[in-house]
This record gives sequence, C-alpha cells and structure tokens, in this order.
Amino acid sequence: MKELVERIKKDGHILGEGVLKVDSFVTHQVDPVLMEQMGQRFAEVFKDAGITKVVTIEASGIAPAVFAAKELNVPMIFARKAKSLTMDEELLTSSVYSFTKQVTSTVSISRKFLSNEDKVLIVDDFLANGQAAKGLIELCQQAGAEVEGIGIIIEKSFQDGRQLIEDMGLKVVSLARIASLTNGEVEFLEGDA
Ligand code: 5GP
Repeated sequence: MKELVERIKKDGHILGEGVLKVDSFVTHQVDPVLMEQMGQRFAEVFKDAGITKVVTIEASGIAPAVFAAKELNVPMIFARKAKSLTMDEELLTSSVYSFTKQVTSTVSISRKFLSNEDKVLIVDDFLANGQAAKGLIELCQQAGAEVEGIGIIIEKSFQDGRQLIEDMGLKVVSLARIASLTNGEVEFLEGDA
C-alpha cells in the first residue's frame, strides 16, 4: 500500500534488534485517516470470503481491525492480554510470546463471541515471528471458527512469521513488507495489497 510505505519512510524509526518504531501513526498516536484506508484495503481483499468477525489483539491491532470490521459490516473482537474482572464467563485462551516485550502472556476471548459458525479475518499491526497471529488462530480453532486469512499492516519479512502462518495453509495479506532494517535504512518488498 503506497500511502503506508511513504508514511513509514517519512515517520518510521529503526530501533536496534530489527524493530521498527511507528508510534506517531500506528502504535501510540494513531492516524485515523490512514487506519481507515488500511481497514478498507483489508475489507476489499476479503469481501467475498464470508467474514463474520474480525479478530485482533490489544492494543495496536484494534484501530485497523475496527475499520476493517466496519467496512465488512461485522463485529470486531479483540483478545485481551489481562483478564478483566468482568470476564466471568467461559474463556478461550492461548499463550503468546511477545517479540517486543519479551514476555509470555495469556490472551483470551469470551467463548460467547466466537462459535463454529464464524468465519474470521485476523488483523494485527505487525507480523514478526508470528506468535501473536498463531495465538489468535488457536483461539479461533478452540471455538471451531474458521480462519479465512490474516491481514497485517507491517510484515517484517526477514523474520519467520509469514512462513509459520502460510505453513498452516492460511493466506497472509500484508500492506507493507519490509525486507530489511539494516544500516539505518528500511528496504521494502512488494506489498500484498
Ligand atoms: P510476532 O508475534 O509476530 O513475533 O510479533 C507481533 C507483535 O509484536 C505485534 O503485535 C507487535 O505488537 C509486536 N512487534 C513485532 N515487531 C515489531 C516492531 O518491529 N515494531 C513494533 N512497534 N512492534 C512490533
């Protein structure tokens, strides 16, 4: 997605350890116009897949996921990282190792929001080693829901996430694909949409 690539070039910052900081438009401050365009792009790709729910993980997946869900006219569900006192019903849970925070957390969704009748589009901000996406896929599988695909804003293609997800037989659609973050430069591959 051209607008996203341009924005990463303009406002993205490379941190050590292969991490890209995009906190001025994705992960902390959010650009709603760009988010809406990205949500629309995901919706366009998956418009004929019969999606009934968009699923993401808090916090940075929520903005693009909600715009995709609005466009597809379906609800958006975000997996919670901390158990809320109000989540007193049966939960779907999985473990996710966080690439950036380097901790494992239990993520959960109330069982009542996903069923074996659902067709799910998973959306997240980054795809690195694929652990967040894998955790969300596992939650869907526990509910018997079918995952139709994974929509990612920024894929770091030098990490293993895409391979992991494709090896599960699932379609990955990344709006920006980064080949490398070396020598202070962001090098891009052709995005999927
Ligand atoms: P994965 O589970 O695919 O290894 O990593 C995905 C998660 O880690 C994303 O939800 C995102 O929060 C975080 N993440 C991974 N790589 C980066 C990065 O380069 N920059 C930022 N800001 N977050 C990242």
